[in-house]
Amino acid sequence: MESSGGAPFGCDDPAGGEDERLRGGVPLLYVLRDMPGELDALLETLLEPGHLRVGQLEIAVVEERYEVRHVEDFGRAELELFTRPEDARQLSLYDEAGDFRPLKTAPNLRRGWLLRLGTIADLHRALDYFYPAMLGVWRDFHAGRLTPVPLRTTLARQTGMYAVTRKLTDEQAQALIGSFCRSDTGCLKRILWPIAPGLPVASLPREKFETADSGDEMPLFCHEACNLLVAKAREVVKSSKTT
Ligand code: SF4
Repeated sequence: MESSGGAPFGCDDPAGGEDERLRGGVPLLYVLRDMPGELDALLETLLEPGHLRVGQLEIAVVEERYEVRHVEDFGRAELELFTRPEDARQLSLYDEAGDFRPLKTAPNLRRGWLLRLGTIADLHRALDYFYPAMLGVWRDFHAGRLTPVPLRTTLARQTGMYAVTRKLTDEQAQALIGSFCRSDTGCLKRILWPIAPGLPVASLPREKFETADSGDEMPLFCHEACNLLVAKAREVVKSSKTT
């Protein structure tokens, strides 16, 4: 018998909510692992060419300050100015239509703003509001410390109302991932995990699994299926039972 309520066990909190895993808005996983200033220094190195693209953000170094804007606003003059790292939280909450963004890495960041910050620590903090923990995940991937979790492992961990997701078939998983995780309408992250060992995701284009840096871009990596995908998997299994 199912218990009601609860949340699926998946990678981080895609809604970006401030729960016990967050300290001051920064994911606890990241706080525990980071040596003081280590990620700030890494971010500074990534910005040595003078600019960096992260998801839908374009970051530019301008007169020893950092300017962050939507990548499609690059070159646009009339932007609303923000100056605090905390402003990033508000800017990332709602899409252009004013709807809540449950997934921080969805390609629906709103436009029309410019965030100007004075220090690399502030920039790092803002980045963690836009794309929580993604700098640390990128660092861990390149340090060989990131272990991708197959979807079957994530689903096997589910309890209560989400335990039914273990019944998702491989075909259903392929179709679900192919629609839910696609970069143009779903999520900008690149997938590192397979459905099961020896069973890769085959329903998305090759670029979705590309791990190489392009030089001026820091890719966002998905090393474990998120809570939202697990919740969708439950819907798929439930609806296939009733048809
Ligand atoms: S499971 Fe899919 S939607 Fe969720 S974070 Fe990973 S790539 Fe994005």
